[in-house]
Amino acid sequence: NGFAELGISGMLLKALDAVGMTEPKPIQAQTIPHAFEGRDILGLAQTGSGKTAAFALPILSKIVAEQSRNKPRTAKALILAPTRELAVQIETVIKDLAKGSRIFTALVLGGVNRGSQVRRMAQGVDILIATPGRLADLMQEGAISLAETRYLVLDEADRMLDMGFIHEVRRIAKATHPKRQTCLFSATMPAEIEELTNSLLKNPVRVEV
Ligand code: AMP
Repeated sequence: NGFAELGISGMLLKALDAVGMTEPKPIQAQTIPHAFEGRDILGLAQTGSGKTAAFALPILSKIVAEQSRNKPRTAKALILAPTRELAVQIETVIKDLAKGSRIFTALVLGGVNRGSQVRRMAQGVDILIATPGRLADLMQEGAISLAETRYLVLDEADRMLDMGFIHEVRRIAKATHPKRQTCLFSATMPAEIEELTNSLLKNPVRVEV
């Protein structure tokens, strides 16, 4: 499996084989090694490029490596997406890739019962996938803490800005761990995205497909 050369190992390689992902796509080959080095990443990529696995695989690898029996599950990673549909899709990909690894995911989405989302969080979560509006609400209510969130992904950042989520995105990012690693993916690069990148990412590697 070509992902082995990018540093993916163990159960994750088996999961990749199981879903028929044997050759990394260009965005994955370009992103994964930098992500393993801990670099922030600015990815210019469209839907269908394989960007989901590009950001998910390094996060899964790191969480599996850092896992220990008695550590609480405290939303180590947060993936922000513009729409419920995209968030659900991202969780499906992550669950497929995490098969056999004990990784817990949760969705926080608008338009869905808040109580069940909060209870799910309280049970312990490794990777949180959320839309910005609902997550910002639950943070404000003190129902969710991102204090231990060290991996932050902003997926389809241009669409999140188009939908008017800029304040929520900034507020959420500010609530994460100060030493986090940040990946921002966007299909377009308007000035607002440049600005957001400059304020949220540190010396990012720019990847374009
Ligand atoms: P994405 O851009 O992340 O939404 O991915 C688009 C589609 O490509 C999804 O259906 C993935 O399952 C598929 N895909 C991503 N990476 C690979 C790969 N390395 N080999 C085969 N299919 C892939």
